[in-house]
Amino acid sequence: MSTTLISLNRKAAEFISTPKKMLINGRWVESVTNETIETRNPATGEIITTVPNGGVEDINLAVAAARKAFDDGPWRMMKPNERAKLLLKLADLVEENGEELAHLETLDNGAPVNVTKYYPTAAADDFRYYAGWATKVTGQTIPVSIPGDIFNYTRKEAIGVCGQIIPWNGPFLMAVWKLSAPLATGNTVVLKPASLTPLVALRLGELVQEAGFPDGVVNIVTGSGSIAGTALTEHPDVDKIAFTGSTEVGRQIMRSSSINVKKVSLELGGKSAHIVFADANYDQAIANAATGIFTNSGQACVAGSRLFVEKKIYDNFMSDLADYTKNFKLGDGFDQATNLGPLISAQQKDSVLNYVDIGQQEGAEVLIGGNTSERDLEGGYYVKPTVIANVNNNMRIAQEEIFGPVISGIPFEDIDEVIKLANQTEYGLGGGVNTTDVSKAHRVAHGLRTGNVWVNTYNLLDPASPFGGYKQSGLGREHGSESIDMYTETKSVWINLD
Ligand code: NAP
Ligand code: MG
Repeated sequence: MSTTLISLNRKAAEFISTPKKMLINGRWVESVTNETIETRNPATGEIITTVPNGGVEDINLAVAAARKAFDDGPWRMMKPNERAKLLLKLADLVEENGEELAHLETLDNGAPVNVTKYYPTAAADDFRYYAGWATKVTGQTIPVSIPGDIFNYTRKEAIGVCGQIIPWNGPFLMAVWKLSAPLATGNTVVLKPASLTPLVALRLGELVQEAGFPDGVVNIVTGSGSIAGTALTEHPDVDKIAFTGSTEVGRQIMRSSSINVKKVSLELGGKSAHIVFADANYDQAIANAATGIFTNSGQACVAGSRLFVEKKIYDNFMSDLADYTKNFKLGDGFDQATNLGPLISAQQKDSVLNYVDIGQQEGAEVLIGGNTSERDLEGGYYVKPTVIANVNNNMRIAQEEIFGPVISGIPFEDIDEVIKLANQTEYGLGGGVNTTDVSKAHRVAHGLRTGNVWVNTYNLLDPASPFGGYKQSGLGREHGSESIDMYTETKSVWINLD
């Protein structure tokens, strides 16, 4: 037995001890074809269990169930306070089963238990935040000026069936985000997790049922993006697609969603700039730069992968950052000492290391890392934290999303130059600025063409604050009141009072 499984939560162990089924219309089912896919533990490469390989017919069944639950009720007719109660119950269940869920996340995705132990609280907070919204989605009365005695008001109504497609890099919280706001607003859902990390979503499906959501309100179909994902985005009975994943697939989804003009929201890739001025609190800036890139082993859409450092401190900062990476302990996520887990797959590891080679060919200098770790001998997909210096913003390593623990340091002279360089990217998701000058902080925060900016910190998220991207990093915002708008249609009602 591997070290992983020795410390595995008992219920998580039980959960993976059988082949998993998927959730359609309140029932746990195999795929119509009986085909399955394996999911692996990225720390060891070992197979954890199998899940159904859902295809077109399975998507059709799930969409039909979601359609019926929406059109015929009871979901659509359910009072908002009843929907809120169900979401609150789900939040409680997530907390009660928190360790099991966190362990399933670590097992399937590799993120350390040291990190995933915070996810159940974040997930429960998300469900509770949107449970609060369920009773507060209101329209307006509008003072129209046209002739006659006219009363005009708006209603915010659920969009209908939502196809929710999520990636492998944060499967637990991504699934939660894709359930909380749409359910609070009265939509029904077909959720398709990533093939590499289907487990937490399936366990959440069990909790959805335990909470008492009516059949068909939440359906979870496991299967490949190219078949099940495409079927969902092309389906004429799906009203909205919410997708988190790569920009390339995001573009395909916009195309296939155009078939019936689905509402589309996208959370895509990034190449976020993390800026350090010479006046910054130096130690804090080192820690922020490291957290900004190495969290989740760099497999984060908001990763601060381009590090802009003011020229006069550049050399020292880069070498101190390289030293700082020695604090990170790479290893199996179930080891309590680990703070950097493996990458998700052998393919991802190869892709990341290939970028390090590309950077060197482009003339950049690897200060530390850039190679696999000795832990690879155990079968996991590890890459050491990697700091690259002498990068310029036109290099491929500064323009393409690497999605691994690799940070590229670029020197700059002044605030105007750095804002310009930071914005020279097709992406616009996150950004960070480290400075003790409040004026510089705000000028950079306003100058960056990105959906999120963090000042003297990085990576903060909260269900009340909108999250999303400018440019090719996305479309729409999740969280806060903006999610409510994204999951509702606005209807204008005209009454002739004469
Ligand atoms: P991906 O290949 O785009 O996959 C994401 C999801 O889409 C998976 O469930 C995938 O299924 C599915 N999919 C693939 N092709 C599809 C298609 N043609 N039609 C419908 N669905 C399809 O991305 P990934 O490699 O899993 O995730 C990494 C990317 O996600 C990075 O670029 C990262 O920046 C981005 N990301 C963005 C955010 C954000 O909030 N902006 C958050 C996290 C990640 P399979 O698993 O079966 O391929
Ligand atoms: Mg897996």
